[in-house]
Amino acid sequence: MIIVMKKDVTQKEIDYVVKRIEKLGLKAMISKGVERTIIGVIGPEDRISMQPLEAFPGVEKVMPILAPYKLVSKEFKPEKTVIDLGKGVKIGAQEIIIMAGPCAIESYDQLFKTAKAVKEAGAQVLRGGAYKPRTSPYSFQGLGEEGLKILKEVAEQLNMPTVTEVMDTRDVEKVLKYTDILQIGARNMQNFSLLKEVGQTQKPVLLKRGMSATIKEWLMAAEYIAVGGNMNIILCERGIRTFEDFTRNTLDLSAVAAVRLLSHLPVIVDPSHGTGKYDLVPDMSLAAVACGADGLIIEVHPAPHEALSDGPQSLVPEKFKELTKKIKRVAEAVGRKF
Ligand code: PEP
Ligand code: MN
Repeated sequence: MIIVMKKDVTQKEIDYVVKRIEKLGLKAMISKGVERTIIGVIGPEDRISMQPLEAFPGVEKVMPILAPYKLVSKEFKPEKTVIDLGKGVKIGAQEIIIMAGPCAIESYDQLFKTAKAVKEAGAQVLRGGAYKPRTSPYSFQGLGEEGLKILKEVAEQLNMPTVTEVMDTRDVEKVLKYTDILQIGARNMQNFSLLKEVGQTQKPVLLKRGMSATIKEWLMAAEYIAVGGNMNIILCERGIRTFEDFTRNTLDLSAVAAVRLLSHLPVIVDPSHGTGKYDLVPDMSLAAVACGADGLIIEVHPAPHEALSDGPQSLVPEKFKELTKKIKRVAEAVGRKF
């Protein structure tokens, strides 16, 4: 349930309610909006049902949260969440945020060249995988910590925040040191140990939708992170499995519109994995911005034919630059900035 506090509530009144909740062995999560402070009660609610909550000082009303996901729901927090990604970049506000870079970090030169090009074209965040979840164990698995070092070095040179995937709970501490955003990949969306682990940090988490996850399952995965105390979650639609095999996945843009109705979290789109084909990426990027996505994550490689992973869906820098010009126009048409 949520406890909506009065407009003129004092800190003392908030502290009192929190204390009463915690005394019952429940957890209180506070959401301070511009208009209101809302306190979420997490745990077996029957424990609190006998309390005269509405009579507590500063309380306006008590409401159940009907959605199974609580903290990430719009009911708990009506205003959109804006997340600080570092180096002056914020996601969830008016500006469209583009994360771009290679699928996998292959070398310093490859990453630097790509990063410089995507930055010049307007991308605010650098992507690059060091731990790659490959279908085949014989495929390139990523450079590991060496790749993370390259990522940090290049990002510092160019003053860009970074996003990179963490696949294993044992690597969280290490990856944290090198990146500004932790990516949880589609294959790990329901790796609950990993979700709990990143929930213990305050790092922004990019949570990709599982390839056969419903929107509800995706939001429940986000709830795992939120309940640990980390509300800095960015949702990412990256296509789901359907009967269609022309594309690698079926990019579900309706999920973007749905998530905007259901949750306060920012949502971005990955048209690269969503289609698997570089020549479909531009159109899907524009459509994503048009339907309200807060950003995009796009794979770019200076020589896709030589890429060690996901070459067929990677844009060359020139095509990426053409695309960002169009994104600017669509963003402005829908009241956003880029
Ligand atoms: C990736 O971003 O390179 C990746 C592996 O994505 P996904 O988890 O969506 O397949
Ligand atoms: Mn990839």
